[in-house]
Amino acid sequence: MNERIYFDNAATTAVRQEVIDAMLPYYSKEFGNPSSIHNYGTTAAQAVSESRQTLANVINARPEDIYFTSGGSESDNWAIELAACNKKGKHIIISRIEHHAILRKCEAMKEKGYDISVIDVDEWGVVKLNELIKAIRKDTILISVMTANNEIGTIEPIERIGRIARANDILFHTDAVQAFAQIHINVREMNIDMLSACAHKLHGPKGVGLLYAGERVKMKPMIYGGMQENGARAGTENVPGIVGFAKAAKLSIDGYNERIRRILYLRNYLISRIMSEVPFVRLNGHPTNRLPSNANFSFQFVEGESLVILLDLKGISVSSGSACSQGDTNPSYVLSAIGVPQDMAYSAVRLTISEDTTKNDIDTAVEAIKEVVAELRSKSSMYNSLMRRR
Ligand SMILES: *Cc1c(COP(=O)(O)O)cnc(C)c1O
Repeated sequence: MNERIYFDNAATTAVRQEVIDAMLPYYSKEFGNPSSIHNYGTTAAQAVSESRQTLANVINARPEDIYFTSGGSESDNWAIELAACNKKGKHIIISRIEHHAILRKCEAMKEKGYDISVIDVDEWGVVKLNELIKAIRKDTILISVMTANNEIGTIEPIERIGRIARANDILFHTDAVQAFAQIHINVREMNIDMLSACAHKLHGPKGVGLLYAGERVKMKPMIYGGMQENGARAGTENVPGIVGFAKAAKLSIDGYNERIRRILYLRNYLISRIMSEVPFVRLNGHPTNRLPSNANFSFQFVEGESLVILLDLKGISVSSGSACSQGDTNPSYVLSAIGVPQDMAYSAVRLTISEDTTKNDIDTAVEAIKEVVAELRSKSSMYNSLMRRR
């Protein structure tokens, strides 16, 4: 077997050929700088402007509220900074399962005198709304809760959080990197003041993202310099990247229902095969209210990392925990937050599919997982002594 199968679409995705085709002219023939007033410049500026409109439409935003960035991490960092300079208070509320771009930025804010309330999630990974409400103070400036989690796929009640934030005159930011153009988001209906997204999680290029910052947010530059992005983020635009981002989002939205239905069917097929054919397994995250592409399992008596390596030898790419914590020896903080016991957290493996995934890919993966799990368990003294006692 030489064909490699990719089950790590939450880490990054393959760029669509149509996206590459849309980007290429802006590297070669239409290489202009959008700030130039000649034809090369206006052609590039036009492409950026159309892309901004396309991406704004995805979340029902005004195009002038979309700011292009280098990706999700930058957008997350910028959102926290913006809240800090928009509002007087020194208190920020986040969930325990935010991406490191939020968690570590908030750690840094503590050094500047900010107080961070970290709200627990339930056993499925849903943020505890009653605790969130209790945490609100007079000096709370921001609530930041992700739209959907990158490890376990759980979708958060962002519409309700938006309502709570608005009623208390607090800014609401959501990290929608995993959810953008994957699940329905309407920044107006959901009272979202700021939102982060990036291209490379939806079959677009790496290194380009956006921050939506609505009319309630007064902008402060992320980068000082020229007047790009309304003066809020200086530097010549990543024109091909921006065009690719918009094309990827458009492809995601076109034929959305058909595509999601298919991904959901395959993901559910994967979950039902694993749960029924592998003993001592647990599904991590919400049983139903999760991203259609995400499955996350713990295989008891098996080390997730070993499973990842052995599956890789068989040409199957999966992930243990999130890509960003690879090399970290602690178990996933997300799994700890949903109460997965430490040994089961070490046993976790995430499979995230895409529209490129076939039923045959899933059958191949399930067979390989069954084989490798059995092999690893045969070497586990805990597993063997349990079997002897039975
Ligand atoms: C991938 C990811 C990010 C980081 O985005 P980059 O574009 O890689 O910087 C942030 N938040 C979530 C939830 C992600 O999955």
